[in-house]
Amino acid sequence: YHAKHHQAGFAVFHSDMNRRAYERFQLVSFLRQAQQAGELELHYQPQVDLRNGVIFGVEALLRWQHSQLGMVQPEAFISAAEETGLIVPIGAWTLAEACRQGALWRQQGHPELRVAVNVSALQFEQEDFVDVVARHLDETGFPPEHLELELTERVVMRNVESSVARMRQLRNLGVMISVDDFGTGYSSLNYLSRLPLNVLKIDGSFVRGLSPRSPNFPVVRAILGLARSFQLEVIAEGIETALERQTLEELGCCLGQGHLFAPPCRAAEVFPPI
Ligand code: C2E
Ligand code: MG
Ligand code: MG
Ligand code: MG
Repeated sequence: YHAKHHQAGFAVFHSDMNRRAYERFQLVSFLRQAQQAGELELHYQPQVDLRNGVIFGVEALLRWQHSQLGMVQPEAFISAAEETGLIVPIGAWTLAEACRQGALWRQQGHPELRVAVNVSALQFEQEDFVDVVARHLDETGFPPEHLELELTERVVMRNVESSVARMRQLRNLGVMISVDDFGTGYSSLNYLSRLPLNVLKIDGSFVRGLSPRSPNFPVVRAILGLARSFQLEVIAEGIETALERQTLEELGCCLGQGHLFAPPCRAAEVFPPI
């Protein structure tokens, strides 16, 4: 009985591995066609001034609508795109699309709107990354000062020397640079003084449940103190409740995004046509 049970368990384990390998294989082959097939779209999450709710920018977030798989969330495909290198052409498309939409919003009467785009490690490390950014800005006419590139600590820390050089080139174009998910990666504090940064984005995990008595309170206060010393702007992510918003404001954080204000939505929903 024991042996049989064990064998059955092994068989289940084995087929589970096969199934996952197959699903992965299928995901990657679907992903290869996604861009050509026009299945990718960008949604935009408003970023607001917490004091008055006025939108100052949007973060572009990738969505994949597949006929069989349905709506695939980034968490389910970005890592596969990174591992296969597909993130490079996908990322270039994302940049182009975000700049195109940003330029259109300007024409439609939102001249100060900023657009933030997430950049992955492989994309950032491409020899021609800065040229790609410059070309898309040029082709769309979107002003560089209104484009913000979000890098994670992990991306920056992979090779600090070359990251700093590349970030300088981007800053020379006029583009803004933010550190996404700040506080969740492993990073040393001395790099903050060396990087040509504009913005720290406080990760949602620090914002969740934030109140004057929550354990995250001193952490968020410390991040805001750091940002002040380095003269960086701060944007809090994942704000869901009025208490989180109020606590952030009391700590002196006046910019943020989250479901309390708006989820990521289609371009036409951010600013409905008048
Ligand atoms: P991220 O850049 O940190 O984006 C913030 C994530 O938090 C988004 O998830 C957003 O939908 C979600 N979010 C916004 N407000 C709230 C809230 O109030 N509560 C909660 N719980 N979540 C909130 P999303 O869109 O699923 O994206 C996940 C991650 O995938 C992003 O994290 C980013 O790292 C990556 N990603 C998304 N689009 C792109 C892209 O175009 N390129 C690259 N390289 N990565 C992307
Ligand atoms: Mg981001
Ligand atoms: Mg983030
Ligand atoms: Mg994230």
